[in-house]
Amino acid sequence: MAKTTINADRCKGCGLCTTVCPKKILQLSKTVLNAKGYNPAEIIDMDSCIGCAMCAKTCPDCAITVEK
Ligand code: SF4
Ligand code: SF4
Repeated sequence: MAKTTINADRCKGCGLCTTVCPKKILQLSKTVLNAKGYNPAEIIDMDSCIGCAMCAKTCPDCAITVEK
């Protein structure tokens, strides 16, 4: 099973990863603010992740890591 990790403090809340995920399991947090004052991306259904790494390749701030 794939494991995707988001480094919330690197995230600038641009939302790009949420648009490219084929499983639509990434969203910007509605409750959490990171140290930079942005709502970071979060994974809402880790079990559905297919490990495609589209999110990691798209993130301009290299905030996402995908392990297979
Ligand atoms: S690895 Fe693929 S399926 Fe998993 S969260 Fe990233 S874009 Fe979505
Ligand atoms: S693409 Fe990167 S910086 Fe943008 S919301 Fe996703 S994790 Fe955050």
